[in-house]
Amino acid sequence: MTFAHDTAEALESGVFLSNSELEPDTLTSLDELVEFFDRFGYTGRRPTSDDLEPVRAIRTPLRHLFLASRDDAVPQINAILAEQHALPQLVRHGEVDWHIHATSDDQPLHVRILVETAMAMIDVIRSHELQRFSRCAMDDCEGVVLDLSRNRSRKYCTVTCTNRAAQAAFRARQSED
Ligand SMILES: [Zn+2]
Ligand SMILES: [Zn+2]
Repeated sequence: MTFAHDTAEALESGVFLSNSELEPDTLTSLDELVEFFDRFGYTGRRPTSDDLEPVRAIRTPLRHLFLASRDDAVPQINAILAEQHALPQLVRHGEVDWHIHATSDDQPLHVRILVETAMAMIDVIRSHELQRFSRCAMDDCEGVVLDLSRNRSRKYCTVTCTNRAAQAAFRARQSED
């Protein structure tokens, strides 16, 4: 496995979140935010309607971070860690064995997501794995692809784009006949 379990999860959730702003926006209500929270197993204070706008607002910066070059990503990561006063601590909760939290559970959700993502990006930078991130192979899509698979076969950001690519390939084949 390339990354520690908590690193991989933080990257998956950060990419999922950043891609939610692509048309059609899939994070527009508290219900959708709670669904995201539960899907990725966040702990601590549950989201309220006050969390919605701040969480929506970090999606573009996160997307830019994931698609940045290595040297451009580093200042963005350092800025998050400094601004949010990240303090790495080993914690254990529920079923999850020792892992790192760098901000406390009572911080606003968008702060926790930012810090968790920045901490995970430290591993990405240090292990020269930034090429795990790419822009979606659909021409008209700004989505982020995170490929943690061994053979690095992922090309599209979401199922939507995978299906669109399959349809386009099908149409291209038909027009050849
Ligand atoms: Zn945890
Ligand atoms: Zn896409």
